[in-house]
Amino acid sequence: MKRVAERLLVAGVGLIGGSLALALRRAGAVGEVVGLGRSEQNLRVARARGIIDRIERDPCRAARGVDLVVVAVPVGAIAPVVRALAPALPPEAVITDAGSVKGPVVRAVERALGTTAGRFCGAHPIAGTEDSGAAAAADDLLRGERCVLTPTRATRPATVRRVRALWKAAGMRVETMGLAEHDAIFALVSHLPHLAAFALVGAVADAGRARRALAFAAGGFRDGTRVAASSPEMWTDILLANRAQVLAALGRFERSCEGLRGAIARGDRRRLLAVLARARGVRRRLTRPPAGARRRS
Ligand code: NAP
Repeated sequence: MKRVAERLLVAGVGLIGGSLALALRRAGAVGEVVGLGRSEQNLRVARARGIIDRIERDPCRAARGVDLVVVAVPVGAIAPVVRALAPALPPEAVITDAGSVKGPVVRAVERALGTTAGRFCGAHPIAGTEDSGAAAAADDLLRGERCVLTPTRATRPATVRRVRALWKAAGMRVETMGLAEHDAIFALVSHLPHLAAFALVGAVADAGRARRALAFAAGGFRDGTRVAASSPEMWTDILLANRAQVLAALGRFERSCEGLRGAIARGDRRRLLAVLARARGVRRRLTRPPAGARRRS
């Protein structure tokens, strides 16, 4: 395969950054991979697993001579990391990210880059698990899954082409979307389910006899709350960054719960049956993704 980068910098070598690097290596699509991160320990795991060739802790040293940068840190840290890298990046270097929220992140990155904003194209790979760090990275995590690119008027067409080629080389199905549409959609199908899972676990953990009850937790509780085991740091950033859309989605969920509560309180069997049957139909019509279905978060 034609290389998408001779020297790739992965800033944040966790689940997503690490999985991308592994997939690109497997495809023979990169030369050297440099890892920039926060803790030495995680970077050592990444090097030991063959995810990166070289560890860098200093952004200016990390940026030297790279032709492509992927910023895969929690969304609140993406723009600060880009700001720290920008002065030392070669002029032809292109930047993408993996953030789960796009509007505020892309705007902050473009502000940080100023006149060179055209070298950045936001991305959101729609794949993941509840696990974190380089130890959890897998070369097939992204394969066959969708990746949403969110170019803006500032993004150079050549940047979009290179960023598209990068995610495609990892086996992803790439499409583009506007910032506002992205954040509205993912508030509904990703941020709300995570919020519901966190709330559900919290409600049970706060109940009397929680320990005894949890000892009996089986498929229903485990399936519905798997994502509550996700990184608190990452999800705090996501929920706050997409605050308006998350609050709108939460409002819908509250109204949905209120509807169920009313039907149960009234003993309204017909209404309850209708709500459950509609939900069942919608859920059953969800098509199975071609690959990585177990992993999708
Ligand atoms: P992760 O496994 O926790 O990895 C994040 C990495 O970023 C960690 O290695 C962490 O280093 C590093 N890091 C954190 N803050 C940093 C900073 N200020 N400077 C440099 N490095 C920093 O998280 P992830 O699941 O890969 O998520 C990465 C990004 O992808 C997030 O923006 C997330 O929204 C997005 N995303 C996640 C998923 C998912 O399902 N997990 C799916 C799609 C997109 P340490 O290990 O040393 O703390």
